[in-house]
Amino acid sequence: MQVVREVQERWGPFTVYVHPAWRVDFPFAVHGITGRPRTPQGERLVLGDRDAFVWELGRLARLDRMVRPEQVHGAEVLVVHPDRLGSELDGATADALITGAPRVGLAVLVADCVPVFLVDARRRAAGIVHAGWRGTAAGVLEAAVEAMRADLGVEPSELHVHLGPSICGRCYEVGPEVFEALGLPAPPHRGFLDLADVLAARGEALGVRPDRVSRSAYCTRCDAERFHSYRGEAGTSARMAAFVALR
Ligand SMILES: [Zn+2]
Repeated sequence: MQVVREVQERWGPFTVYVHPAWRVDFPFAVHGITGRPRTPQGERLVLGDRDAFVWELGRLARLDRMVRPEQVHGAEVLVVHPDRLGSELDGATADALITGAPRVGLAVLVADCVPVFLVDARRRAAGIVHAGWRGTAAGVLEAAVEAMRADLGVEPSELHVHLGPSICGRCYEVGPEVFEALGLPAPPHRGFLDLADVLAARGEALGVRPDRVSRSAYCTRCDAERFHSYRGEAGTSARMAAFVALR
């Protein structure tokens, strides 16, 4: 697994953090995660209506539409088909989205949870996953990778996986029940958990090549000047939008 420091791009009122190699290697796709907004307009979008926030990102990316499901910390995968882009997508419940359709942005909102970006260059497919500990324990990454295979014909060995900015293993202290839920040795009281490491190991166990797995060098809590942190800001309602789309 590589550790990658995302590069910053200025997108209107937003700062968007982008994987430096993906930006070059996957010109057929667009992806990123917003940080703290740059302007008062961005601030209003980040703290206001979440659909408006995500749609503004889609507009700036020149996409036809954005899909943002209701996140429930589960393992449900929403497969976004090119011929089913209507109102059935509104209000959908999922923590993972995948598509082979161009110009449709897939978005999840995070603030400490791990945004997982999935791209396959050969079949031109993309996906995004919202992975907190509950979703990880429920198998959301496994479900997304399996759906990529079953619905889009993408083998895990073809996938590129990036674990975006999230709370790091020195900041994320959890109880023994979290370790148990993840199938990890549990400390007697509380312990520090590196959820991105857990997800990387799970991805590799699914057949994703280790040299195609990367994680962000940023921590949403340590790098507080760049990102919002639910834990670092005492339950803030501000979120970052992580998104991926095929052009
Ligand atoms: Zn940290």
